[in-house]
Amino acid sequence: MTETTSNSENALSAPFPWQVAQWAQLSRAFAASQLAHAYLLSGCEGLGKSLFAESFARYVLCLKPITQSAVGVGGLADTAVACGSCNNCLKCGAGNHPDILTIEPEEGSKNIKIDQIRWLSEFVIRSSHSGGAKVVIIQSAHLLNANAANALLKTLEEPNDNTHVFLVSDHPGRLVATIRSRCQKLAFQVPDAAIAASWLQTIIGEANVNSILEASDMRPLIALQLVEGDSLQDRARFLQSICDMKAGKKSIQQALSLVAKNGESEVLQYFSAFLSKLTKYSLTGIVDNEDDPTLQSMYALLVPSKEKSIAQTVASSLALLYTEVETARRQLASTTNPNPQLIMESILWQWSKLDLN
Ligand SMILES: [Zn+2]
Repeated sequence: MTETTSNSENALSAPFPWQVAQWAQLSRAFAASQLAHAYLLSGCEGLGKSLFAESFARYVLCLKPITQSAVGVGGLADTAVACGSCNNCLKCGAGNHPDILTIEPEEGSKNIKIDQIRWLSEFVIRSSHSGGAKVVIIQSAHLLNANAANALLKTLEEPNDNTHVFLVSDHPGRLVATIRSRCQKLAFQVPDAAIAASWLQTIIGEANVNSILEASDMRPLIALQLVEGDSLQDRARFLQSICDMKAGKKSIQQALSLVAKNGESEVLQYFSAFLSKLTKYSLTGIVDNEDDPTLQSMYALLVPSKEKSIAQTVASSLALLYTEVETARRQLASTTNPNPQLIMESILWQWSKLDLN
């Protein structure tokens, strides 16, 4: 059995609400075939610049981008993003798309060295594997050593039409001026408190996040690091595994192995909320929590039918399973000595048999 690591396994997905303007700027340029050869993404640590660059690279290579509504600084905006399911997106998700090159200091090194930039130069001149654009992401670009910076400058001076280089830096002032002047600037700012709070509340499911945000100087991803244990990732992994089950990429046994790690009560709680959202979506097409990539995988499981009777049949099946899950939760919480493994197997089996179309 092949397993594809979906980008949805990543607990976070850009563009974040405070990046909508930058995303719109780049996607407009891309749509008009005017994407620059090099961009410098700058701003302090904890704003998600690297994730922005990675998401944008996926979008550039995606074969059928989708439009989603994103809440940004100026309110709701339609944002084109990678579909997450085409051939290119799957390769990106598995981290092995041949048309994306990511450069960062090697393990144990504090610099980006000239050998790494030589790979970059070779990557830039060779033709694209997928027939489209190629993207280079240089993380912590201020760590280029002098020789590497010189070599990069030569590449930037002779751009390839088809290749876009994204330099990401928390300290752009440390980059040599000649490199900076070759790049279009894309600056990221610390978001307004309300935007940061709303995002963090969505991610961690807690209402009171102000003290955490203050502790992080309003840098949302630093705030998340402060509160994040393993539980958020465990939830994402489990929900992703049940999405993968429906896509035939994981077995019930594989999902069950994650249950053992998470605990049955926790898992049933995730699953119950998951089914409730999916039921609503099947009837209305309304998407909740667009920030949550796991939910995006869930929504991808079904296309709400325009035919009311079909939508109602799917919703009824989902609602029935939801009732089963709630019953199972009560059983597990009771003192009647239930068999947790049997309960989980039964729930996951019913899920695997559910017809979503
Ligand atoms: Zn795609």
